[in-house]
Amino acid sequence: MTEIVAGATIDSARRMLASRLSAAGLESPELDARLLVGHALQLDLTGLVMHGQRALSAADITWLEALMQRRLAGEPVARILGTKEFWGLELQLSADTLVPRPDTETVVELALEHLAAGGDLKRPLRIADLGTGSGAILLALLSELPAAYGVGTDISHAALQTARDNARILGLGDRAGFIAGSYASALSPPFDLIVSNPPYIPSREIDDLAIDVRAYDPLRALDGGADGLDAYRALIPQAAQLLQPGGTLVVEVGQGQSEDVAELMRAARLAIDSSAIKADLAGIPRAV
Ligand code: GLN
Repeated sequence: MTEIVAGATIDSARRMLASRLSAAGLESPELDARLLVGHALQLDLTGLVMHGQRALSAADITWLEALMQRRLAGEPVARILGTKEFWGLELQLSADTLVPRPDTETVVELALEHLAAGGDLKRPLRIADLGTGSGAILLALLSELPAAYGVGTDISHAALQTARDNARILGLGDRAGFIAGSYASALSPPFDLIVSNPPYIPSREIDDLAIDVRAYDPLRALDGGADGLDAYRALIPQAAQLLQPGGTLVVEVGQGQSEDVAELMRAARLAIDSSAIKADLAGIPRAV
């Protein structure tokens, strides 16, 4: 496959990388090429456009080819960059955190819709995010709720450190705390809102996941046990004990799991109304 030649401009390198990624059958070649070139040259989109005619140095080309080889080997762009945008926030990642997915924004939306319906957006709410990973859901909520406080839990100390870093970088560190523990086991009541994107892939389906998930996301953040529902069986009863009367629990679910999870919530004496399930952009029920 053609490599970038000496004297290539930023624009021509971008086009060449995009066509190589596209020829390799990767899903978003233009975007990936832009992110990789921007990362290698430390330029944002505006910088890339402004300097499009600039010639790359030999060192730039070597570096870019190395990043390109990683992408072609299946490593997700977010892992190569070490960051991912979620809810308009740039989040740092580590090997112990799942790459935040656009689907997970459905959890944030459903939680905010419920709070808005209760007129609660400006209140000093107490929020918990169980299995917080990079802190994505909690930090997105805190960025929208100026008076809220939140705590994120995780069994991974490395993930908690990443989440703390993210809170600090985003200027949310004074309203976000992070503590070690399995789901809600280390928390004491009361909470107004509890959110979680727990592992929910049935164990036997892990091997069938795409390489960018299977080889790069932490298995503990994916594997939901035999039927994928183990985490919900653990965390829903815990959450029900911690919620204020009138409080809200919102969890992400895998395809086809929304009814089973709604049933687990009913069994924990949580009320499920008609606005309790929200679909993602692909129309799949994603948040309960
Ligand atoms: N949405 C992720 C995936 O499909 C799974 C995340 C999870 O198990 N919570 O790879």
